[in-house]
Amino acid sequence: MDPQTPPGWTPNAWLSITPAFLEEAINAARTQGLTPIALEDLPERLADESDTRRYVSFTLDDGYRDNARFAAPVFQRHGIPYTIFITSGFVERSRSIWWKTAQEITMRCETVDLARIGIDGRVSAGTRMAKIALFDRLSDLVTEAQDEDAAIALLDDLAQAHGVNPLEITERLTMSAEELADLAGDPLARFGAHTLTHANLRKVDDARLHQELSASASKLRGYVGVSPTTFAYPYGYPSAVGAREIAAVEQAGFAAAVTTQPGLLSPGARDALAALPRVSLNGFYQRRRYVEALLSGLPFRLRGSPAAQ
Ligand SMILES: [Zn+2]
Repeated sequence: MDPQTPPGWTPNAWLSITPAFLEEAINAARTQGLTPIALEDLPERLADESDTRRYVSFTLDDGYRDNARFAAPVFQRHGIPYTIFITSGFVERSRSIWWKTAQEITMRCETVDLARIGIDGRVSAGTRMAKIALFDRLSDLVTEAQDEDAAIALLDDLAQAHGVNPLEITERLTMSAEELADLAGDPLARFGAHTLTHANLRKVDDARLHQELSASASKLRGYVGVSPTTFAYPYGYPSAVGAREIAAVEQAGFAAAVTTQPGLLSPGARDALAALPRVSLNGFYQRRRYVEALLSGLPFRLRGSPAAQ
């Protein structure tokens, strides 16, 4: 076996963290003197130059049911506001979560017939290494496609042919409109838009870009009763967030928007509210000392300025 493969590898594991680790991250932020604040309140605080406090905002992407079940109680115990970014296509069970679809195909099948999507013949997925390789190929199929919708449709088709129902996965993992309305009763819960379809916005035309922003905001208002003022770019990395997308987010009236590009808030953040960096509490680094290092900004300084990415 590849010694670099973590034990118990499953695809996407790096995207999730445990409640105990979230608790540690909150404690680490407090120890460092950071003041927790809702992301939507950040623009006003940053605009006040006499306010020298250092802030931290906790955010969660995609509207997974686990957010309400495991993360919300931790935030409630600490009295800390949190923002969940919602993709309406998931809420309405009309869009598959392609990385979860790829995960289920990979984990459940012994062999997979890639001829169905025109990229190979029948390939083995019987060993952990074969599963890792297959998951990577299926991920590449979507992330490297210019037409993301078409690639996801192919993946959905492949899933169906192997007994995996992509929309059933969406339904199993993400909150419905009713569950969002329930969670909205928590005064600490805030919601931000995360598009209609979780599209890579750099790959869509202008009309679709505006639709993804404005229609997801109005749908979210329908679910939770409040118009969102915050937004998270799907994927959030540089090949999914460009100058056109940032301008469109500003035009759509969002007061703050977050990427997944690593970094900390700096005094200049008030000029870059439509593309804020984030520290990712990621599954690879579930130790308090990693969070402390991340919140101190040290790893990013060693790797160079995030602005240079
Ligand atoms: Zn997302």
